[in-house]
Amino acid sequence: MRFAPTVVVGPSGVGKGTILASLCAQCPEVWLSVSVTTRSPRPGEIEGQHYYFLTPTQFDELVDADGLLEWARYQDHCYGTPKAHVLEKIDQGRAVVMELDVQGARQVVQRLPQARTVFLAPPSWDELERRLRGRGTESATAIERRLVVAKQELEFQNECDRVVVNREVASAVAELVNFIGLGPMGTSAAS
Ligand code: 5GP
Repeated sequence: MRFAPTVVVGPSGVGKGTILASLCAQCPEVWLSVSVTTRSPRPGEIEGQHYYFLTPTQFDELVDADGLLEWARYQDHCYGTPKAHVLEKIDQGRAVVMELDVQGARQVVQRLPQARTVFLAPPSWDELERRLRGRGTESATAIERRLVVAKQELEFQNECDRVVVNREVASAVAELVNFIGLGPMGTSAAS
């Protein structure tokens, strides 16, 4: 195996999406898992790129068919990782990256013991709150609930293999590239 699968965890609003998009743009070896979810698309989210958007019935069918590597309920919705895609890309030698919540990360580490975890942390709690409120895509109630969950999620950093603080996108991406063992512009530092 060239690259250990990497699970990226971090509280809502920390900037996981921006950092992972930049990582993928820089490193062609990276394959970012696209999750299934029962939540509705946010403005600008594209089916098959950000998520596969499913109905609760479709999601349940996938769970029953053992099609998910892990799944969890987060707030009022279900999220899961399509299993076949991930196993196939690991076999192909791609650097598989999964962006998951804490519950999902724990399941993946149990099922794929070679997986490594990275916690993406905000520079401070105030900054996280500012980013989450500034996103403007959720109701005030949803934001308050995400903040409560975020406080609990911050504790998980002590269980992770690496903590990357998102002070600035470029340096956070560089730390991730280094942790996964990727060289600049996709040349593998590990090979
Ligand atoms: P959001 O609704 O903001 O896109 O995601 C909410 C939370 O679900 C985030 O913490 C995100 O990392 C997590 N998440 C996204 N995809 C998955 C998945 O496939 N499995 C699990 N367990 N969590 C996921």
